[in-house]
Amino acid sequence: MKIVDVKTHVLSTPLDEPFSFSMGWVTRRGTMIVEVITDEGVTGWGESLCHGLQPPQIAQTIVESALKPILIGEDPQDVDVLWERMYNLTRPYGQKGAVPNAISAVDIALWDCLGRAAGKPVHKLLGGAYRTSVQPYATGFYRVEGRSYPADAVEEAKRHMAKGFTAMKLKTGFGVEDDIRYILGVRDGIGDGPKLMVDANHAYNVGSARRILKAIECADIHWFEEPISPEDVDGYRELKTLTSIYLAAGENEFTKIGFREWISRRAVDILQPDLCSAGGFTECRKINALAQAWHMPVVPHVWASGIGLAASLQFLATIPPAPLALKPIEPMLEYDQSSHPFRQDLIFGAITMREGRVDIPQAPGIGVEINREVIERYTVR
Ligand code: CA
Repeated sequence: MKIVDVKTHVLSTPLDEPFSFSMGWVTRRGTMIVEVITDEGVTGWGESLCHGLQPPQIAQTIVESALKPILIGEDPQDVDVLWERMYNLTRPYGQKGAVPNAISAVDIALWDCLGRAAGKPVHKLLGGAYRTSVQPYATGFYRVEGRSYPADAVEEAKRHMAKGFTAMKLKTGFGVEDDIRYILGVRDGIGDGPKLMVDANHAYNVGSARRILKAIECADIHWFEEPISPEDVDGYRELKTLTSIYLAAGENEFTKIGFREWISRRAVDILQPDLCSAGGFTECRKINALAQAWHMPVVPHVWASGIGLAASLQFLATIPPAPLALKPIEPMLEYDQSSHPFRQDLIFGAITMREGRVDIPQAPGIGVEINREVIERYTVR
């Protein structure tokens, strides 16, 4: 099998109702999709994570100018060698951030090719599934102009619970006092049942995060995600000794080299690599192996369209519980419920929740078919 073309698609559309998180206002949803075409008629699809404030054109430029020349004429079965070549040739300018973000989409597309060619879902090629479905948690709770908090967040939580969610994650990072009042208010409003996580998107320093952690200890919070800057590994180590709430981070870290420090220094309780940003299947399986060697649970970050979501479900199937037991602590699916005009429409055989679980797609490759009409409709030209 030979790669004959690598196409990129930048999709973007404005939101009817902009929303904010601790870093700013999100007014558009976008993504960068990669299509790898082979001489055997097999096409693979991949996606780069596009944060709310990230222009998807950056990943497109990297794939078109730096990665595509490395890939044309190569065999997708050499996926590990191709990953290392892409990383090595971009290393002087791209060890973290935009370049691994772009490599991720290519790598996912290569694995999708391999799965489609073999007639098997990617998780079978990666060694098999530890589970056939996962518990999703709802990511949402972004702030919208004119609403009142925590009252509107309690209403949103009830909507998620009515859909079958038993776990959800609040967006915080709007100020120490505001966050404390908000978190305690939401817990009070929804009762003891649902599992509740909070995510500050690195809005704090160690001192302010410590104050929040102390004040919310009574609210049975499962994890506090990105309380502080992703560069402050020592800060995470310090915070970890001060709270019984799990600390989680990883969406702003990249490659096995980047994760090495977080894992070997035991900086967090829960590691959150994003398949569409940390390096795709090739790299995330290695991050997985490192985490397993240090007995650290992995719960991937997911904030993607249907392509990245399907691929992340393939990855989720392969994450070993840490540790394996009769009733193991299982990874959850981060299931974004925030506004996204084309998230579901991009794939046929939409991924949905059934009785509070999301099934791992069993069809070949990432397990879903792509709707080219939707790609056409949202493509930025
Ligand atoms: Ca997050």
